[in-house]
Amino acid sequence: MARYTGPVCRLCRREKMKLFLKGPKCDSVKCPVERRPYPPGEHGRDRARQGSEYLAQLREKQKARRIYGVLEKQFVNLYEDATRQGGITGENLLRMLETRLDNVTFRAGWAASRSQARQLVRHGHVRVNSKKVTIPSYSVKKGDQISLSDQAKAMIVVRHNVDTLDRSIPAWLDTTDEGNTVSVRDYPLREQIDIPVREQLIVELYSK
Ligand code: SF4
Repeated sequence: MARYTGPVCRLCRREKMKLFLKGPKCDSVKCPVERRPYPPGEHGRDRARQGSEYLAQLREKQKARRIYGVLEKQFVNLYEDATRQGGITGENLLRMLETRLDNVTFRAGWAASRSQARQLVRHGHVRVNSKKVTIPSYSVKKGDQISLSDQAKAMIVVRHNVDTLDRSIPAWLDTTDEGNTVSVRDYPLREQIDIPVREQLIVELYSK
């Protein structure tokens, strides 16, 4: 599946907020959102946009897509799956995004960013129930055990992330094996998903 390969800090600046797409740089003074808190481009600074309902909905959708690194087509497919499930569509959508294997790899603290987590998965370093899975969008299920390959456990970048990131594991995941394995205790509830997105606006956008 394709992915966005352009400059990611522009995406944060476009949303006028930190989306934490780059790992350690995001918490440093080098973060461009800190230094240039206005949209990119020649007229980014002086573009005073009228806030419309559509614009607010569009921005929320783009924010969610960019945080999880999902392209439009895949996002629409997820939305359609979310509408077919029972319950609240927006929460279904966020839950499906949150249970992607690359996101779980990120949440486990093995990767500094979701794009690094995606790379770990693509390169075959992540196991689901002891089987290699190389699909970043793979959806983990309740009770699944996600672990690192022996090779990945010894990788300097992974060790560095585990030792220094100090990321708190969300309540819907349990961690064992000195942080090298996480298991899915339950599907995440909305309050356990700490992304700054108003999912109801995304639903309004797509249901027009
Ligand atoms: Fe976004 Fe991180 Fe770049 Fe800052 S450093 S603009 S938070 S990706």
